[in-house]
Amino acid sequence: MECRLRVAERLRREFPGWGAKLGEDHLVDLGVLGQISDTALTRDAAIRFEKTGLPNTFVPGRNLLFFTFAAAIGYRRGLKHLVGGMCETDYSGYPDCRDDTLKALQASLSLGMDQRFVIHTPLMWRDKAATWELAQDLGSMPLVELIRDETHSCYQGHREHRHDWGFGCGACPACDLRHKGWDAFVAGRNTA
Ligand code: ZN
Repeated sequence: MECRLRVAERLRREFPGWGAKLGEDHLVDLGVLGQISDTALTRDAAIRFEKTGLPNTFVPGRNLLFFTFAAAIGYRRGLKHLVGGMCETDYSGYPDCRDDTLKALQASLSLGMDQRFVIHTPLMWRDKAATWELAQDLGSMPLVELIRDETHSCYQGHREHRHDWGFGCGACPACDLRHKGWDAFVAGRNTA
């Protein structure tokens, strides 16, 4: 939540062509999720895998709620395009990150608000190496470096130590995916 302001500020400054298209930051407090879920993301608990095969960081319905709130704001503003970073290529198995789920949600939101919404998930079929490549294609190394330095994937939110692949504890499932993706991206760049 704190990182997003720095990311937006640097995007505006370093990529003025995109910055001109960025709207105001609009933050909606969904802390209520913590009252109805009991997960390692909404309380202080060690990360482990459950019998379901999902990590205990799974917050049931989270992305459904995020997009539902985003659509409600979009409805008010007359916007139909909703964009999310979900991915089911190399991911932790969360069912609300899957393409089928989000296609169904797009239909539900469009029907339920009687307004056409389109959910865009540009990372859905890209693994983490291809996601770094996309950043490089879009904004060259300055964008790769902005993402590496100003964002993290870590479930623990660790920003004390910067690895080659960015900040993180280096041990949680999200750090593991990010680390592997970065290594594959660098290996691909070296052989290109
Ligand atoms: Zn981590």
